[in-house]
Amino acid sequence: MSTYEKIIGLAGNPNVGKSTVFNELTGLHQHTGNWSGKTVGNTSGEMEYNNSKYLIYDLPGTYSLYTNLAEEKVAQDFVYAKEYDVMIVVCDAVCLERNLSLVLQVLDVTKNVIVCVNLIDEAEKKKIKIDLKKLSKILDVKVIGMSAVNKIGIDELKECIEKFEKKNEENKEKTFCENDMQDFINKSEEICKEVVHFEKSDCNERDRKIDRILTNKITGIPIMLLLLGLILWITIIGANYLSDILFDALFFVGDKIEGLLNNIGVPLIIVDALISGVYRVLAWVVAVMLPPMAIFFPLFTLLEDIGYLPRIAFNLDPIFKKCGACGKQALTMCMGFGCNACGVTGCRIINSTREKLIAILTNVFVPCNGRFPMLISIITMFFVGTSGGLLSSIYGVVILLGIILFGIFMTFLVSKILSKTILKGEPSSFILELPPYRKPQILKIIARSMLDRTLFVLGRAVCVAAPAGLVIWLLANITIGDATILTLCTQFLDSFARIIGLDGVILMAFILGLPANEIVVPIILMSYMATGEIVEMSNVVELKNILVQNGWTYVTALCTMIFSLMHWPCSTTCITIKKETGSWKWTFLAMLIPTLVGMAVCFLIRSIVNN
Ligand code: GDP
Repeated sequence: MSTYEKIIGLAGNPNVGKSTVFNELTGLHQHTGNWSGKTVGNTSGEMEYNNSKYLIYDLPGTYSLYTNLAEEKVAQDFVYAKEYDVMIVVCDAVCLERNLSLVLQVLDVTKNVIVCVNLIDEAEKKKIKIDLKKLSKILDVKVIGMSAVNKIGIDELKECIEKFEKKNEENKEKTFCENDMQDFINKSEEICKEVVHFEKSDCNERDRKIDRILTNKITGIPIMLLLLGLILWITIIGANYLSDILFDALFFVGDKIEGLLNNIGVPLIIVDALISGVYRVLAWVVAVMLPPMAIFFPLFTLLEDIGYLPRIAFNLDPIFKKCGACGKQALTMCMGFGCNACGVTGCRIINSTREKLIAILTNVFVPCNGRFPMLISIITMFFVGTSGGLLSSIYGVVILLGIILFGIFMTFLVSKILSKTILKGEPSSFILELPPYRKPQILKIIARSMLDRTLFVLGRAVCVAAPAGLVIWLLANITIGDATILTLCTQFLDSFARIIGLDGVILMAFILGLPANEIVVPIILMSYMATGEIVEMSNVVELKNILVQNGWTYVTALCTMIFSLMHWPCSTTCITIKKETGSWKWTFLAMLIPTLVGMAVCFLIRSIVNN
């Protein structure tokens, strides 16, 4: 017997605040965001109310129950199977007419329905009045006005769920034709004529004005680049300060712990492995990674919350089409900026398997947060100068933007090549909804980007950095003959690495950096200095000196950046790719393609500069 009082389904069009309602009911923190299609599988959660437990299934956002899209099938099967006591359908009060069609389709299958008209606050702002009582009468089900983010209507919904009495009904056959769809649409229109009153003639005028600029053929893309540049600039400036403070603090604490361990008589070799190996790599990863993430993610989430991301997809769609890929790939690339593993998972929003694979195979060309700090520090050392100042920081951003744009260019190029070769096919069409611009919820953004993203990514990096730290320490301290294992490996790789503008140490660092890219720079430094331990990045000038003494030139710096942009994905991303594609072949290709491209570009750079 089930321990749940009731089983509940939660359906709705994309972007109507369904995840927000789900989170409010269950107390879970599912990712919410302002674009369609992000809830892709079935998620379930528990709601507790008056000492009873309820199980809630959050269905993927869908416009109808009767198309062949994968996520709509999931919703359709769920609604027809009737293994629930009540279906909640969430609607957007601002565009009720489009939403009602889905409500009517569900009502056609079952009368065990509660309708939530969400975003009632937005509707009020736009002077849209909805007669909820009348709507309830017409539909003959309970209708609740709601503003989920403001927690308005949530309690009423919980109470309504508690009191809901399931009507037993026959199962319905899935018989359906195109005309039925038109009937639903006509009926929605009729109902809305009766219950919705617009007090202003064009309530979306403001959004349209903004869209005329942001999605304009001429201004759209430059504005997008400017915004990206601005975010990078704020990230770089802010991260520098924070990183310095963190480095000092963490290395200070490390020294204290080391002293303590020595005092209580822990054997030297173990103290060394723990502090010089595990702790220092961890400290380095935290100090380098945390600041840019803590700044970048909130800014990025802000753009997402306002509703800007779908506009990026809209602007880039024509280019993706030309490359035989899907415009939604732009969204998965945006996610990749945070973390490529997230970007790969995000590719589920692309319906065509072919286009999904293209998006997965090329996601790594977008530098993730683990690689930003490395790019930033190399740019600071070799291309901008270390004096600081506004002009040089802007110059730094331009170079970083250039690298990112090169990555995006390679994404297009490789997508195009894939769509002409192993993933042949025509680009499919899709409906991309441009959601209304919404006022961002600053506090929520900060909480969400810190908890869901920053701490999540950091936590994972820390989990790999700690064991990696130990392995690296072992490699750097176990000797065979006169040389350490690390030295032997770098010597072995050296002649090949030099062909592509790197050296054995750099290439080895990338290989050891497979668990997490953020440890590449510390490994390089450790190998050069032959200290057998990770050093503190106390000062950029000092760092640059170490590199230059070991033969680094501008070409080495450039090739290292390019290779950082284009090489195998980190292990987490590889595991995610295997999970998402279910195939070793595609996982292997996802590693091989960027690596070959990166090597080819580095080889070209080195050959051109050397001649
Ligand atoms: P889903 O795609 O239906 O799951 O929608 P989400 O729950 O992700 O919400 C989409 C966006 O709408 C998010 O930015 C939410 O913060 C916002 N949102 C959700 N409910 C409301 C509401 O009642 N009022 C306002 N103003 N915004 C809301």
